[in-house]
Amino acid sequence: MPEIFIDGKPIRAERDQTVIEAARMNGIEIPAFCWHPELSIAGNCRVCAVQVEGRSWVEIACNMPVSEGLRVLTDSEPVRAYRKSIMQLMTLNHPVDCGICDKAGECTLQDYHYQYNGEPSMSRDPKVRSTKFHPLSERIVLDNERCILCSRCVRFTREVSKSNALGIVQRGDTSLVRASEDGALDADPYSDNVVDLCPVGALLSRPFLYQARVWYLKPTPSVCPSCARGCTVDVWHRKAEWKLNALDPGKNVKIERVTPRENPEVNGPWMCNKGRDLAAVFERPRALQAMEHGRPVALDAAMNAARRLVAAAMRPVAFVSTWGSNEELAAMKRALPGRCTTFVKSDRVRQPDERGDDELLIRADKNPNRATACALFPLEDDGQGSLIADTDVVLVWGEGFDYARVPAGAKLIVLDAYEQSTHARADVFIPLSIQTERSGHYTNFQGVVSAFSACFPKPGSVAHAEAVFDAIAVTEGAPA
Ligand code: SF4
Ligand code: SF4
Repeated sequence: MPEIFIDGKPIRAERDQTVIEAARMNGIEIPAFCWHPELSIAGNCRVCAVQVEGRSWVEIACNMPVSEGLRVLTDSEPVRAYRKSIMQLMTLNHPVDCGICDKAGECTLQDYHYQYNGEPSMSRDPKVRSTKFHPLSERIVLDNERCILCSRCVRFTREVSKSNALGIVQRGDTSLVRASEDGALDADPYSDNVVDLCPVGALLSRPFLYQARVWYLKPTPSVCPSCARGCTVDVWHRKAEWKLNALDPGKNVKIERVTPRENPEVNGPWMCNKGRDLAAVFERPRALQAMEHGRPVALDAAMNAARRLVAAAMRPVAFVSTWGSNEELAAMKRALPGRCTTFVKSDRVRQPDERGDDELLIRADKNPNRATACALFPLEDDGQGSLIADTDVVLVWGEGFDYARVPAGAKLIVLDAYEQSTHARADVFIPLSIQTERSGHYTNFQGVVSAFSACFPKPGSVAHAEAVFDAIAVTEGAPA
């Protein structure tokens, strides 16, 4: 472990680290546009320049290997002057249209400008104009005037997603990022990571374009439920203090965007595009009314009716949701009587257009918590087999169940969060909260447990599944 000195302070570094890595590992910030810990070194932005003590020139820290006794300065006069000149160069042709840029508020160029430059452009020449809204793919639009040609996006598609979908064409101040013409960026299931990677507002998400200023939004830690990887994510939604009262109050409980929350154990700094489209999963029409035999009833009445049915059943069968949290699955385990046969079902099965297991993140199992469900309930449902004819009560939790399998004469209890016409045929239907309305944990296919938190309050007419199971819990031998 070599010892190096940054601004006179001794720090320990790993043998194969660069100065920028060693500095960051020790909490020392060296600015960088093109460098990223998960990408190869490009060394083209030059803003990470530092000075080795005793030398009169500056050198880039992203490409400087550590060596025993190395002494570097990150804030000497030559470093400050060089960084300032780099920032002048970066903004030479940049449009500085922060007022209409989605990246404003989380833009590295803005931050470094104030930190290392802070002065208006010295150039008297008109800025080089370029394409403002170049459609790179169905999901991403490119503003070439804002691009600082750091090449992070290009390296991502070559080194991480391996679609080779992006490149830089032409030379000098006519250089442009462009997508390959074979539609590879559209086909890249990880393409939207380049929007996060872009240090400026050049790459923009089309679904998020002009939807919200980021300072009105709050990130709530969550877990993507769309496959068994369970990527840790941030669900961005409007801050309570910026609640809209008149102008579209629906935006107060809307998912504005989803971004990866770095987690070396699960997803690193990445996630797939499917996970970014969580609004399409969670913002489907909701089931908001408890029912008995298709008629609206109060939530408590429905839970009491469900408890009576379960307690009186001789041969009950229950289908376990693989979208339930660890806490909810444990509550279901506690609630059901020993005579109940349980089957773990798939709430979602992989569709023909969806990826199976790949080398980066995506899993073929499109359910977030099969690991805990199968650990607590040993039998798995194949989605087809018929139930034995003398089954007297069937309890179905979640989606993905074929109600034609319920034997004639058996009572049906359904717990679900989303609207379905088949709910009306249940003897008891109880509407549930969704993931963004509760907190809990999922265990992914590798056994890693990740927590998710509530973003919004649940509607008053729905119940948390855990509360439902506690309410219907059967004490063996007790009267129904
Ligand atoms: S689009 Fe963004 S990430 Fe790509 S080269 Fe330009 S500045 Fe870098
Ligand atoms: S890989 Fe799976 S868990 Fe991760 S973002 Fe994509 S769908 Fe969600």
